[in-house]
Amino acid sequence: MIVEKIQEYIEKKRKISPVHVNRASEIGHPCYRYLYFLRTAWDQAQLPTYKQQLVFDEGKLQERAVLRLLEDAGFDIVEQQRPYEIRELKLVGHIDAKIRVNNKLFPLEIKSMSPYFFESLHVVKDFLNHRYAHIRKIPFQLQAYLMLANYKEAVLLLKNRSSGELKEIVVVQDEKMQNEIRVKCQTINDLVEKQVAPEIHEEFDEKICSTCKFAHICLPDVKRKNEMRIVDDEELIALLEKREQLKPFHDEYLEVDKILSKRLEGIEKAIIGDFIVTGKWVHRKAYKVPETTYWKKRILRVVKK
Ligand code: SF4
Repeated sequence: MIVEKIQEYIEKKRKISPVHVNRASEIGHPCYRYLYFLRTAWDQAQLPTYKQQLVFDEGKLQERAVLRLLEDAGFDIVEQQRPYEIRELKLVGHIDAKIRVNNKLFPLEIKSMSPYFFESLHVVKDFLNHRYAHIRKIPFQLQAYLMLANYKEAVLLLKNRSSGELKEIVVVQDEKMQNEIRVKCQTINDLVEKQVAPEIHEEFDEKICSTCKFAHICLPDVKRKNEMRIVDDEELIALLEKREQLKPFHDEYLEVDKILSKRLEGIEKAIIGDFIVTGKWVHRKAYKVPETTYWKKRILRVVKK
């Protein structure tokens, strides 16, 4: 009754916006083909799902709440959503705001996230080594902001969406990452000008491609180009469907288990809620993995359901 009406409203407001330049928020995406499609096929991008739109809207709400909180706490917050551009790179970005700390202004980026992500991120390296591409993108977004606004340091403020906790991370200018951004922008600009889509990387990542809004135009293209064998096996199809359904739970399990391993380190015996938790240090002997040949598979759904 209420939820259905809200869902209808949210679904109606989903939209795609034209993209004619490289965006700071996307420049850390690992796939050049994706960045190329963003510029050349933005009008064919799949609309966000209802759930993705909810997450996006929630992020915006949280961002406004954090800005209000900072102002209430007495911080000077200026230049909210100021647009920037580096014309020769066709690189643009809107910085959430700038914050004055000890009489010094810093570009400010606010990211609200689930407790799982919040607990796993402490320093820039944690972002860069993260298993999720959308988290690995964040330091590049901040480096792009530093280039755009011509600053040496920025503040990344993380908010735990469940507990409301905040965590601040100072992001310092990194020449190597900024050069990477320059090269990426120039490469995409050249390809867009020549209208040549980058080839799909042979090692394309199942996790990234399965949530890509251009998968429906990118992957059929790959299917056409490569000589694919058609296997018509009902049991295999059912297993692939089942795997697809279970995948999000598996990913979430691994993420939660990793956080728990860290949080429970050093606890030998404890009762936590309904759980008995025990642990001990285990010494693992170093050993050399013998050489072997194995079949590496990658599975991607071509037709979105
Ligand atoms: S489906 Fe994968 S390879 Fe194709 S554009 Fe998206 S991320 Fe890149």
